[in-house]
Amino acid sequence: MQMLLNRRVIVTGAGSGIGKAIVERFLQEGAKVLAVVRKPEQIEDFLTNENFCYVVGDVNDYATNQSAVDTAIEKWGGLDAMVANAGVWDFFKKLQKMSAQELEDGFEQIMSTNVRAVLMAAHASYAALEDSRGCFITTGSNACFRPGGGGPLYTASKYALRGVVAQLALDFAPNVRVCGVAPGATDTPIGGTDGLNQTGKSMNKDRERLESMGKHIPLGRVSSPEEHTDLYVTLASAKGARYVTGTILVSDGGLSAGQ
Ligand code: NAD
Repeated sequence: MQMLLNRRVIVTGAGSGIGKAIVERFLQEGAKVLAVVRKPEQIEDFLTNENFCYVVGDVNDYATNQSAVDTAIEKWGGLDAMVANAGVWDFFKKLQKMSAQELEDGFEQIMSTNVRAVLMAAHASYAALEDSRGCFITTGSNACFRPGGGGPLYTASKYALRGVVAQLALDFAPNVRVCGVAPGATDTPIGGTDGLNQTGKSMNKDRERLESMGKHIPLGRVSSPEEHTDLYVTLASAKGARYVTGTILVSDGGLSAGQ
């Protein structure tokens, strides 16, 4: 049985990593998926699927979020779930290692993508989700709950995101559920920001670092992006999580259970 048959969904950060795995899985589950990507080349694999379409843009621009929602409504007559997943990392950059300029620019860019863009996605999609009694889902992190998943800028952004989920769950109730999924270390090309001079860096280029991250995880390894997708399917489905809101489901291999 397909869990998301005809569910109309938007996924941001859909060109790689966890977002791309969500798109692939949602299509398998029968959803109609609009992907928000940086470059069309990132989603070539899906272009022949009639249940797939995309918008190219920067999630930090409100217009990108609005255009995704408008396109979904125009194509499918509504929206059942918005997955605000795009995010950037800081490669564990410590505050004491930043120049003043890096702090200013890095803070602005990380908070903008990881928090402000999520609020914009929620703002742009709220009316459509209210109409469909749908749900808003964002990608948190183990860094929503404990330090050590990044430097202070990334950790601050994900703790803030936890507040966004909690507050929006109250504000959007009773018709729209608001939830998150918190992956732990995952094998993806997640990048940093220009502000922290991390242009072109991607986490999974450094296989040694990934392996060493795995050693600190109770399950003994980092995860693949696909391993988180069941949780998104459950949250986005019509029936899977009808009484779940304000919650961030953790998929971190036991990291938050402690060492
Ligand atoms: P990723 O880099 O593969 O995916 C993030 C996507 O977001 C990329 O395709 C990127 O192009 C897109 N993106 C970034 N900034 C954007 C912008 N301004 N406008 C439009 N698109 C933008 O990395 P990922 O690991 O799949 O990250 C997805 C989410 O998972 C992020 O929110 C991240 O914080 C979270 N996460 C990742 C890990 C991990 O270990 N990889 C762990 C916990 C949480």
